[in-house]
Amino acid sequence: MTEIAYRLPQQRIVSTALPGPHSAAWAARRKAAVAAGVGSSVPVFAADADGGVIVDVDGNSLIDLGSGIAVTSVGASNPAVAAAISEQAAHFAHTCFMITPYDGYVRVAEELAALTPGDHDKRTVLFNSGAEAVENAIKIARLATGRSAVVAFDHAYHGRTNLTMALTAKSIPYKANFGPFAPEIYRMPMSYPYRDESTLTGEQAAARVISRIETQLGAQAVAALIIEPIQGEGGFIVPAPGFLPVLAEWARANGVVFIADEVQTGFARTGAWFACEHEGVVPDLITMAKGIAGGMPLAAVTGRAELLDAVHAGGLGGTYGGNPVACAAALATLDQMRELDLCTRARELEAIAMPRLRALAAETGVIGDVRGRGAMLAIEIVKPGTGLPDPVLTKAVAAAALTRGVVVLTCGTYGNVIRLLPPLVIGNELFIDGLEVLAEALRTEIA
Ligand code: PMP
Repeated sequence: MTEIAYRLPQQRIVSTALPGPHSAAWAARRKAAVAAGVGSSVPVFAADADGGVIVDVDGNSLIDLGSGIAVTSVGASNPAVAAAISEQAAHFAHTCFMITPYDGYVRVAEELAALTPGDHDKRTVLFNSGAEAVENAIKIARLATGRSAVVAFDHAYHGRTNLTMALTAKSIPYKANFGPFAPEIYRMPMSYPYRDESTLTGEQAAARVISRIETQLGAQAVAALIIEPIQGEGGFIVPAPGFLPVLAEWARANGVVFIADEVQTGFARTGAWFACEHEGVVPDLITMAKGIAGGMPLAAVTGRAELLDAVHAGGLGGTYGGNPVACAAALATLDQMRELDLCTRARELEAIAMPRLRALAAETGVIGDVRGRGAMLAIEIVKPGTGLPDPVLTKAVAAAALTRGVVVLTCGTYGNVIRLLPPLVIGNELFIDGLEVLAEALRTEIA
């Protein structure tokens, strides 16, 4: 990676209890003002962030292994992105692209056409959040095909709006008591190598899905199949090789729109621009958000021109979709990703972490699986010898890491996965310190 001039010292410093007194005071004010339904996994209020650190309101400097859920890949205050934001904001922060268009939106669309897999003619529409991109991808697929059924997968996460809740698999906390849900969503079994019968190859897992679709729905009823190429919230599940290509091939043969939800996996995170590329899969539509704009809210659907252009004018859009400041941030973010070669950097981080995580698994016996790609890595915590999920230990380890100054996130259908999503610009030394603290937290909790 090109040398980066960090603004904040890249060090882990814990000088108070975590949360410290100022964080605790803010937590009390928050409780009286902010809806209880918005949780925070880390009870520490941020004051600053740069490179691989988040500095809290008590002056502690925490190692960030979460990137605000895979968002701040270029850093949370990347100078080039910050400059692009202030430059655009000094001119106009909004006109509404549906009223008076501007070039930033078009430039982002051109970038996404070039970066996403496939050399077919593409179009793009921009939104504010991953869920909004997913909703619109489904709208586009339904309109373009004239079909209504949508296939989603076990362990899927696609968002919290009504349609995306229906696509999301996990009940608590995402769905319970929020129904009724959007109809015509059909859930199929995922390929989950660690938990599948060991004999199930990717091709066989795909055949199981295809057989169910054909016998239970009929291919001609299906508008779209939506899948995360590596599932995020569901547990960083990497499907067995062959699963995605066989499903994509079947979709193409049957006029079903193959939607890759790359909201979490996109933009260099897995060591390629998009996770689909690892298996040469070319989606018809791809949904993107998170890493795209260095922290500014921006999301996109990019895909086959004939699908996106099938929609009548006015059928897609929104007041803020493709906001000019967010577009300026995205253009600077993509430049930074190229300049700093963050795809290579993600693979370097994988090379640093994987042997350490595997050694920790062998040493402790409570890690059933180590998986992921690039800087999207996870350990699945289980009861030794049984493979049964251990969400209690998982939570305790994340909490123990935090008290030592390292932010790690958990995920998984069974709440038993610790995921690593460091900013791609984190330095080696800091990243290794973070991994060592995580290991120490695990050792302490099982001792
Ligand atoms: N799809 C995937 C794969 C995601 O990981 C997420 C967010 N975790 C979403 C959709 C929803 O994105 P947002 O939170 O921006 O609505």
